[in-house]
Amino acid sequence: MAKKLFAVFGNPVSHSKSPLMHNLAFEGLSYDACYTRYLLENGEKLKDTFLKLGLKGINITVPHKEHAYHACDILDPFAQKVGAVNTIVKKEEKLYGYNTDAPGFLKAISEFKEVKKVLFLGAGGTAQSTSSILRDEGYEVTILNRSAGRLEKYIQEEFECYTFESFEPKIYDLVINMTSAGLEDDSLPAPKEILDNIIPNAKACVDVIYGKETPFLKLSKAYNKPTKDGSDMLLYQGIIAFGYFTDHTYRFDEIKKHMQKVFTL
Ligand code: NDP
Repeated sequence: MAKKLFAVFGNPVSHSKSPLMHNLAFEGLSYDACYTRYLLENGEKLKDTFLKLGLKGINITVPHKEHAYHACDILDPFAQKVGAVNTIVKKEEKLYGYNTDAPGFLKAISEFKEVKKVLFLGAGGTAQSTSSILRDEGYEVTILNRSAGRLEKYIQEEFECYTFESFEPKIYDLVINMTSAGLEDDSLPAPKEILDNIIPNAKACVDVIYGKETPFLKLSKAYNKPTKDGSDMLLYQGIIAFGYFTDHTYRFDEIKKHMQKVFTL
Protein backbone atom coordinates (compact mmCIF):
# COMPACT_ATOMS: atom_id res chain seq x y z
CA MET A 1 0.00 0.00 0.00
CA ALA A 2 1.30 3.52 -0.84
CA LYS A 3 2.61 5.72 1.98
CA LYS A 4 -0.18 7.90 3.39
CA LEU A 5 0.36 11.64 3.34
CA PHE A 6 -0.88 14.15 5.91
CA ALA A 7 -0.39 17.90 6.43
CA VAL A 8 -1.30 20.92 8.49
CA PHE A 9 -2.89 23.79 6.54
CA GLY A 10 -2.64 27.31 7.94
CA ASN A 11 -1.42 30.85 7.43
CA PRO A 12 1.07 31.24 9.05
CA VAL A 13 2.01 27.59 9.37
CA SER A 14 5.80 27.62 9.83
CA HIS A 15 5.47 27.66 13.66
CA SER A 16 3.21 24.59 13.83
CA LYS A 17 4.41 21.67 15.94
CA SER A 18 1.95 19.29 14.27
CA PRO A 19 4.37 17.86 11.66
CA LEU A 20 6.88 16.94 14.35
CA MET A 21 4.22 15.53 16.70
CA HIS A 22 2.59 13.33 14.08
CA ASN A 23 5.83 12.17 12.47
CA LEU A 24 7.15 11.14 15.90
CA ALA A 25 4.05 9.01 16.38
CA PHE A 26 4.10 7.58 12.84
CA GLU A 27 7.73 6.60 13.28
CA GLY A 28 7.33 5.28 16.82
CA LEU A 29 4.33 3.16 15.87
CA SER A 30 5.83 2.04 12.50
CA TYR A 31 2.84 3.46 10.63
CA ASP A 32 3.75 4.07 6.99
CA ALA A 33 2.90 7.75 6.68
CA CYS A 34 4.45 11.18 6.44
CA TYR A 35 3.15 14.56 7.70
CA THR A 36 4.13 17.95 6.29
CA ARG A 37 2.97 21.59 6.42
CA TYR A 38 1.24 23.65 3.74
CA LEU A 39 0.90 27.42 3.69
CA LEU A 40 -2.68 27.91 2.49
CA GLU A 41 -3.30 31.55 1.69
CA ASN A 42 -6.81 31.28 0.31
CA GLY A 43 -9.17 29.24 2.48
CA GLU A 44 -11.60 28.87 -0.43
CA LYS A 45 -9.01 26.58 -2.06
CA LEU A 46 -8.77 24.21 0.90
CA LYS A 47 -10.67 21.31 -0.64
CA ASP A 48 -9.06 21.56 -4.10
CA THR A 49 -5.61 21.76 -2.53
CA PHE A 50 -6.29 18.77 -0.29
CA LEU A 51 -7.41 16.66 -3.25
CA LYS A 52 -4.66 17.86 -5.61
CA LEU A 53 -1.94 16.96 -3.10
CA GLY A 54 -3.29 13.41 -2.73
CA LEU A 55 -3.58 13.68 1.05
CA LYS A 56 -5.22 11.18 3.39
CA GLY A 57 -5.83 13.75 6.12
CA ILE A 58 -5.07 17.23 7.40
CA ASN A 59 -5.15 19.40 10.47
CA ILE A 60 -6.28 22.97 10.03
CA THR A 61 -5.03 25.91 12.01
CA VAL A 62 -5.69 29.67 12.03
CA PRO A 63 -7.43 31.15 10.05
CA HIS A 64 -9.06 28.31 8.11
CA LYS A 65 -11.13 26.29 10.61
CA GLU A 66 -14.36 27.71 9.25
CA HIS A 67 -13.35 27.09 5.63
CA ALA A 68 -12.51 23.53 6.67
CA TYR A 69 -16.00 23.18 8.11
CA HIS A 70 -17.50 24.15 4.75
CA ALA A 71 -15.14 21.86 2.78
CA CYS A 72 -16.35 18.62 4.41
CA ASP A 73 -18.89 16.16 2.99
CA ILE A 74 -19.67 14.64 6.38
CA LEU A 75 -19.36 16.38 9.74
CA ASP A 76 -19.01 14.90 13.17
CA PRO A 77 -21.98 16.18 15.28
CA PHE A 78 -19.79 18.30 17.58
CA ALA A 79 -17.93 19.95 14.65
CA GLN A 80 -21.32 20.60 13.08
CA LYS A 81 -22.52 22.27 16.29
CA VAL A 82 -19.54 24.60 16.75
CA GLY A 83 -18.96 25.37 13.06
CA ALA A 84 -15.19 24.78 13.23
CA VAL A 85 -13.14 21.85 11.89
CA ASN A 86 -9.46 21.26 12.71
CA THR A 87 -9.16 17.69 11.41
CA ILE A 88 -10.22 16.24 8.04
CA VAL A 89 -9.84 12.63 6.92
CA LYS A 90 -10.59 11.28 3.44
CA LYS A 91 -12.50 8.01 3.42
CA GLU A 92 -13.93 6.45 0.26
CA GLU A 93 -13.66 9.73 -1.65
CA LYS A 94 -15.53 11.70 1.02
CA LEU A 95 -14.07 14.29 3.40
CA TYR A 96 -14.98 13.73 7.06
CA GLY A 97 -14.57 16.69 9.45
CA TYR A 98 -13.89 16.72 13.19
CA ASN A 99 -13.03 19.19 15.93
CA THR A 100 -10.35 17.83 18.27
CA ASP A 101 -9.38 21.17 19.90
CA ALA A 102 -12.32 21.11 22.30
CA PRO A 103 -12.06 17.47 23.47
CA GLY A 104 -8.28 18.00 23.77
CA PHE A 105 -8.88 20.98 26.02
CA LEU A 106 -11.49 19.11 28.05
CA LYS A 107 -9.02 16.31 28.71
CA ALA A 108 -6.28 18.81 29.57
CA ILE A 109 -8.33 20.35 32.38
CA SER A 110 -9.71 17.05 33.68
CA GLU A 111 -6.94 16.93 36.29
CA PHE A 112 -8.63 19.79 38.16
CA LYS A 113 -11.23 18.10 40.32
CA GLU A 114 -14.29 19.63 41.95
CA VAL A 115 -14.48 22.35 39.38
CA LYS A 116 -17.90 23.63 38.38
CA LYS A 117 -17.72 27.39 37.71
CA VAL A 118 -15.33 28.44 34.98
CA LEU A 119 -14.40 31.95 33.85
CA PHE A 120 -13.16 32.36 30.26
CA LEU A 121 -11.04 35.41 29.58
CA GLY A 122 -11.58 35.85 25.84
CA ALA A 123 -14.27 35.09 23.29
CA GLY A 124 -12.41 34.12 20.09
CA GLY A 125 -12.51 30.97 18.01
CA THR A 126 -10.86 28.72 20.60
CA ALA A 127 -13.21 29.93 23.31
CA GLN A 128 -16.17 29.10 21.09
CA SER A 129 -15.61 25.36 20.72
CA THR A 130 -14.21 24.87 24.23
CA SER A 131 -17.04 26.77 25.96
CA SER A 132 -19.52 24.57 24.13
CA ILE A 133 -17.92 21.27 25.16
CA LEU A 134 -17.50 22.44 28.76
CA ARG A 135 -21.15 23.35 28.97
CA ASP A 136 -22.12 19.96 27.47
CA GLU A 137 -20.07 18.38 30.26
CA GLY A 138 -21.92 20.28 32.97
CA TYR A 139 -19.52 23.15 33.69
CA GLU A 140 -20.99 26.63 34.21
CA VAL A 141 -19.09 28.90 31.83
CA THR A 142 -18.96 32.70 32.12
CA ILE A 143 -17.30 34.73 29.36
CA LEU A 144 -15.37 37.94 30.00
CA ASN A 145 -14.07 39.74 26.91
CA ARG A 146 -12.27 43.01 26.23
CA SER A 147 -14.80 44.17 23.66
CA ALA A 148 -18.52 43.56 23.19
CA GLY A 149 -18.54 42.55 19.50
CA ARG A 150 -17.48 38.92 19.89
CA LEU A 151 -19.84 38.37 22.83
CA GLU A 152 -22.95 38.54 20.67
CA LYS A 153 -22.95 34.91 19.61
CA TYR A 154 -22.33 33.79 23.20
CA ILE A 155 -25.25 35.90 24.40
CA GLN A 156 -27.44 34.23 21.76
CA GLU A 157 -26.35 30.87 23.17
CA GLU A 158 -27.28 32.11 26.66
CA PHE A 159 -23.81 32.19 28.19
CA GLU A 160 -23.34 34.72 30.99
CA CYS A 161 -21.22 37.41 29.31
CA TYR A 162 -19.39 40.54 30.41
CA THR A 163 -17.00 43.16 29.11
CA PHE A 164 -14.41 44.62 31.47
CA GLU A 165 -16.79 47.56 32.08
CA SER A 166 -19.88 45.49 32.89
CA PHE A 167 -18.10 42.73 34.89
CA GLU A 168 -19.46 41.84 38.31
CA PRO A 169 -16.88 39.55 39.96
CA LYS A 170 -18.09 36.28 41.48
CA ILE A 171 -16.24 33.22 42.66
CA TYR A 172 -14.91 30.98 39.88
CA ASP A 173 -13.21 27.60 40.42
CA LEU A 174 -11.13 27.82 37.26
CA VAL A 175 -9.95 30.95 35.45
CA ILE A 176 -8.75 30.37 31.88
CA ASN A 177 -6.86 32.69 29.56
CA MET A 178 -8.41 32.03 26.14
CA THR A 179 -6.96 35.21 24.59
CA SER A 180 -3.72 35.77 22.73
CA ALA A 181 -2.63 38.30 25.38
CA GLY A 182 0.85 37.26 26.46
CA LEU A 183 1.57 35.30 23.28
CA GLU A 184 3.78 37.89 21.62
CA ASP A 185 3.58 40.68 24.19
CA ASP A 186 3.64 41.17 27.94
CA SER A 187 0.00 42.02 28.45
CA LEU A 188 -2.51 40.52 30.85
CA PRO A 189 -5.80 39.25 29.36
CA ALA A 190 -7.84 41.59 31.59
CA PRO A 191 -7.13 44.63 33.79
CA LYS A 192 -5.03 43.70 36.82
CA GLU A 193 -7.69 44.98 39.25
CA ILE A 194 -10.14 42.42 37.85
CA LEU A 195 -7.61 39.59 38.00
CA ASP A 196 -6.61 40.55 41.55
CA ASN A 197 -10.26 40.15 42.45
CA ILE A 198 -10.87 36.72 40.90
CA ILE A 199 -7.58 34.78 40.98
CA PRO A 200 -7.34 34.59 44.81
CA ASN A 201 -10.72 32.77 44.92
CA ALA A 202 -9.91 30.31 42.12
CA LYS A 203 -8.83 26.71 42.67
CA ALA A 204 -6.56 26.83 39.60
CA CYS A 205 -5.63 28.94 36.57
CA VAL A 206 -5.06 27.73 33.02
CA ASP A 207 -3.59 29.36 29.90
CA VAL A 208 -4.10 28.05 26.36
CA ILE A 209 -0.81 29.62 25.28
CA TYR A 210 2.03 27.11 25.46
CA GLY A 211 5.79 27.15 25.59
CA LYS A 212 6.15 30.26 27.75
CA GLU A 213 5.13 31.60 31.13
CA THR A 214 2.62 34.34 30.28
CA PRO A 215 2.00 37.35 32.55
CA PHE A 216 -1.34 35.70 33.44
CA LEU A 217 0.37 32.50 34.63
CA LYS A 218 3.01 34.55 36.47
CA LEU A 219 0.32 36.45 38.33
CA SER A 220 -1.56 33.23 39.13
CA LYS A 221 1.62 31.68 40.53
CA ALA A 222 2.19 34.79 42.64
CA TYR A 223 -1.15 33.93 44.27
CA ASN A 224 0.13 30.34 44.81
CA LYS A 225 -2.44 28.85 42.49
CA PRO A 226 -1.93 25.57 40.64
CA THR A 227 -1.39 26.50 36.98
CA LYS A 228 -1.15 24.83 33.62
CA ASP A 229 -0.23 26.11 30.16
CA GLY A 230 -1.59 25.02 26.75
CA SER A 231 0.90 22.18 26.10
CA ASP A 232 -1.46 19.36 27.09
CA MET A 233 -4.26 20.88 25.00
CA LEU A 234 -1.90 20.89 22.01
CA LEU A 235 -0.78 17.33 22.70
CA TYR A 236 -4.27 15.92 23.32
CA GLN A 237 -5.89 17.54 20.26
CA GLY A 238 -3.05 15.96 18.25
CA ILE A 239 -3.53 12.51 19.80
CA ILE A 240 -7.27 12.60 19.12
CA ALA A 241 -6.62 13.72 15.50
CA PHE A 242 -4.06 10.90 15.12
CA GLY A 243 -6.80 8.49 16.20
CA TYR A 244 -8.97 9.67 13.30
CA PHE A 245 -6.02 9.59 10.86
CA THR A 246 -5.19 5.96 11.71
CA ASP A 247 -8.78 4.75 12.07
CA HIS A 248 -8.36 4.23 15.82
CA THR A 249 -5.70 1.55 15.41
CA TYR A 250 -3.77 2.66 18.52
CA ARG A 251 -4.63 3.40 22.15
CA PHE A 252 -4.42 6.97 23.44
CA ASP A 253 -1.45 6.18 25.72
CA GLU A 254 0.47 4.43 22.93
CA ILE A 255 0.20 7.55 20.76
CA LYS A 256 0.97 9.85 23.70
CA LYS A 257 4.21 8.00 24.48
CA HIS A 258 5.65 9.00 21.10
CA MET A 259 3.92 12.32 20.47
CA GLN A 260 4.89 13.90 23.78
CA LYS A 261 8.58 13.71 22.79
CA VAL A 262 7.85 16.93 20.87
CA PHE A 263 8.33 18.82 24.13
CA THR A 264 11.81 17.47 24.73
CA LEU A 265 13.26 18.02 21.25
P1 NDP B 1 -8.96 34.79 18.21
O1 NDP B 1 -8.17 35.73 17.37
O2 NDP B 1 -10.12 34.08 17.62
O3 NDP B 1 -9.48 35.57 19.55
C1 NDP B 1 -8.63 36.35 20.30
C2 NDP B 1 -9.28 36.73 21.64
O4 NDP B 1 -8.28 37.32 22.45
C3 NDP B 1 -10.40 37.74 21.54
O5 NDP B 1 -11.36 37.44 22.54
C4 NDP B 1 -9.69 39.07 21.82
O6 NDP B 1 -10.54 40.06 22.36
C5 NDP B 1 -8.70 38.62 22.86
N1 NDP B 1 -7.51 39.44 22.99
C6 NDP B 1 -6.48 39.53 22.12
N2 NDP B 1 -5.50 40.33 22.63
C7 NDP B 1 -5.94 40.76 23.84
C8 NDP B 1 -5.39 41.61 24.84
N3 NDP B 1 -4.19 42.18 24.70
N4 NDP B 1 -6.11 41.83 25.96
C9 NDP B 1 -7.32 41.26 26.12
N5 NDP B 1 -7.91 40.43 25.21
C10 NDP B 1 -7.22 40.20 24.08
O7 NDP B 1 -7.89 33.76 18.80
P2 NDP B 1 -8.02 32.20 19.02
O8 NDP B 1 -9.24 31.90 19.80
O9 NDP B 1 -7.80 31.49 17.72
O10 NDP B 1 -6.72 31.90 19.91
C11 NDP B 1 -6.65 32.34 21.25
C12 NDP B 1 -5.41 31.75 21.90
O11 NDP B 1 -5.52 30.33 21.96
C13 NDP B 1 -4.11 32.07 21.15
O12 NDP B 1 -3.15 32.51 22.09
C14 NDP B 1 -3.70 30.72 20.59
O13 NDP B 1 -2.30 30.62 20.49
C15 NDP B 1 -4.26 29.77 21.64
N6 NDP B 1 -4.50 28.41 21.13
C16 NDP B 1 -3.89 27.35 21.76
C17 NDP B 1 -4.10 26.05 21.33
C18 NDP B 1 -3.40 24.91 22.02
O14 NDP B 1 -3.42 23.80 21.48
N7 NDP B 1 -2.82 25.12 23.17
C19 NDP B 1 -5.00 25.74 20.20
C20 NDP B 1 -5.62 26.91 19.62
C21 NDP B 1 -5.37 28.20 20.08
P3 NDP B 1 -11.34 41.11 21.41
O15 NDP B 1 -12.61 40.40 21.00
O16 NDP B 1 -11.60 42.27 22.30
O17 NDP B 1 -10.46 41.42 20.25
